[in-house]
Amino acid sequence: MRKVVKFGGSSLASAEQFKKVGNIIRAEASRRFVVPSAPGKRRKNDTKVTDMLYACYGLAEEGKDFSHELRLIRERYQEIIDGLKLKLSLKEEFEKIESNFKAKAGKDYAASRGEYLNGILMADYLNFKFVDAAEVVFFKEDGRFDAERTNEVLGERLKNMPNAVIPGFYGANPDGSIRTFSRGGSDITGSIVAKAVHADVYENWTDVSGFLIADPGIIPNPEKIEMITYKELRELSYMGASVLHDESIFPVRSEGIPINIRNTNEPDNSGTWIVESTCQKSKFVITGIAGKKGFCSVNIEKDRMNSEIGFGRKVLQAFEDNGISFEHAPSGIDTMTVFVHQDEFMNKEQNVVSALHRLADPDMVDIEGDLALVAVVGRGMKSVRGTAARIFAALAHKNINIRMIDQGSSELNIIIGVRNEDFEEAIRAIYNMFVLVQL
Ligand code: ASP
Repeated sequence: MRKVVKFGGSSLASAEQFKKVGNIIRAEASRRFVVPSAPGKRRKNDTKVTDMLYACYGLAEEGKDFSHELRLIRERYQEIIDGLKLKLSLKEEFEKIESNFKAKAGKDYAASRGEYLNGILMADYLNFKFVDAAEVVFFKEDGRFDAERTNEVLGERLKNMPNAVIPGFYGANPDGSIRTFSRGGSDITGSIVAKAVHADVYENWTDVSGFLIADPGIIPNPEKIEMITYKELRELSYMGASVLHDESIFPVRSEGIPINIRNTNEPDNSGTWIVESTCQKSKFVITGIAGKKGFCSVNIEKDRMNSEIGFGRKVLQAFEDNGISFEHAPSGIDTMTVFVHQDEFMNKEQNVVSALHRLADPDMVDIEGDLALVAVVGRGMKSVRGTAARIFAALAHKNINIRMIDQGSSELNIIIGVRNEDFEEAIRAIYNMFVLVQL
């Protein structure tokens, strides 16, 4: 059994947290490859080291004095080193960082030092080998991740190592300069390492015990999702549920490696399993509910629209020409509705309306704002009759008017449009219907 274990910033924010992480790693010999984030928040109003680094480098870039800010960052690491009673000194590393900041080594270089230093610290604490991600994770000339080269070099490098710590979040450009993934990118590094070492499991340790069926801000203590497929996860995270970086599923997905989301503060909880496919039924018909507010619907009516070839294309072109992406486009016989993000659309709405008239010659265009979309996702829906009926009944009981319904052909999700002000109530009603009542 070979596992790659990634720990998020809150799992590594203090010596106390590091000790929990050490216990987790030592509890299983299979936990051989470790990917750390930079130290995160120790408490609610704390600042992540990554943000401190961005701010510190901002000063350096403007030619201002950044010594105080850099000292604060150094203190964050020193606090952990002292708390763990390590002999490690990061003095030279900080001197190098200081001179590179003065030489304006770049924002990405600056941010990456959070993971880099934490990797050195972690390797020292665990007595594992340290592998600098800049030597094994690569980006292409155009800035995209170079999966092929990385997999080859990383796989070769780790092949005969009993264990290693590989810092998350960054790699190197073809010219050797440092480049980071987008924020939260250590999740991606963990996945890349899991693929390169052909891991059996990619464990992603964070501060929640997995994915919850619904947002705990709306549903108090929602049930946890035990197992979710990559596809379901994509639907949910697209609609706002975020525990894992979106792109982190791709490397492991191509190898069929499951991801196990775990909680550093509750290591006995089995967390959530993210898998390619499973014959295990989810506990409830639905796997999860997520949603977003702030959509607009643009209703386009034209008599005999359905017989006019190319009508849909002309409508969508009006949006495309104005640089607006659309979310959903349900249609009727003489109507077509396009859902867009309100903030993206607002400033361009009149341009879109005139483009619609010019391109598609509709009878009428009607815009409605302040709508929310709720996605009810579940692989179990395919085989169960009446799911949609139950959703609609739940909403009807709460007097919530449904503005739009869209069921993807995969039968994996049903998307419902409601008014912004009905959003939370709609989620509560659906949760109650499927999770609390459980017919
Ligand atoms: N430390 C980086 C961030 O705060 C990357 C990560 O934690 O995954 O975004």
